[in-house]
Amino acid sequence: MMILALCACTSMQPSSASFQAMDTLMSLKVYGGNTNLCDTLKSRIQTLDGLLDATDEKSEIARLNAEKSAAVSEDTDALLQRSLTLCEQLGDSFDITVCPAVRAWGFTTGDYRIPSKDERKALADRIDYRRVKADHGTYTLSAQTELDLGAVAKGYAADISADLLRDGGAQAAVLNLGGTIALYGKKPDGSRFSVGIADPENPAAYFGTLDCDACVVATSGGYERYFERDGKRYIHILDPKTAAPVENGVRSVTIVTDDGTRADALSTALFVMGLDKATDYYRAHRDFDLILLTENDELYLTEGIFDDFSLSDGYDYIVHRLG
Ligand code: ADP
Ligand code: MG
Repeated sequence: MMILALCACTSMQPSSASFQAMDTLMSLKVYGGNTNLCDTLKSRIQTLDGLLDATDEKSEIARLNAEKSAAVSEDTDALLQRSLTLCEQLGDSFDITVCPAVRAWGFTTGDYRIPSKDERKALADRIDYRRVKADHGTYTLSAQTELDLGAVAKGYAADISADLLRDGGAQAAVLNLGGTIALYGKKPDGSRFSVGIADPENPAAYFGTLDCDACVVATSGGYERYFERDGKRYIHILDPKTAAPVENGVRSVTIVTDDGTRADALSTALFVMGLDKATDYYRAHRDFDLILLTENDELYLTEGIFDDFSLSDGYDYIVHRLG
């Protein structure tokens, strides 16, 4: 018995890879399945990045933004379709045509600036996903419209990775796609997955850990990209209504659910909504779980994960249960 257990252990060393993609560091750990599965995932994610990156002039999204009409590949088509549906479902908190505003504030280049009130008004007028038309894989944008899939690309990468892991016969995997964590299958030792939730004040540390089974855990926080002027912080998550960085007292939002693309979109959208509307949205749907941290150190956890979460030592957040 002992020997068998040992064999099971040693044959289940994960293969791993870490690399830069989608403007972030990604790391993959895959248990079992075909050899080279890690490499397969890595190259698929890098290919996807090459299609979707609005700042890479060779990408399909950049070409669509420049030419206003183009036929796109299957992956880009699939993600655009899903994204447009999510825009409809999420109302005015989520819009994949925020691109001109993201650029105007300097988030694409790092040359940060604060657009004037008039400029912001003009930018907000340019944000409207309804000006994106789809026709059998060919997309057409109105003259002022540009796409930015930054809020959903990592979640979609999580979804296609899960398909590849299934096809490749993997037993389990832990994929850290830069703030979007995909947990696949069942760990060889039978234990549940354990995911640290980044402390927005010190993203290398975790304010808590969540024990869970296979799912996607997507976090949006002001800490990923921001700049400061006169003591004020401007973050890379924008309110589509104002074309300006969100300032609503939320510090981070984590979504837990099976669908990576939706988890990623929801983490951005519920951040924009703020505590009250995010709580309402949760109560109207209840098909995902939520961890929301405010600037007053209040932590809101939905009932589906409440007992699976533990606060790290040294964090004295006030914890609320959302039912
Ligand atoms: P991160 O990329 O840091 O994990 P998110 O998933 O929240 O964070 O995505 C933020 C990115 O999405 C921004 O960099 C920008 O490109 C885009 N974005 C910002 N605000 C919105 C919004 N309200 N709706 C859709 N996309 C947004
Ligand atoms: Mg997101």
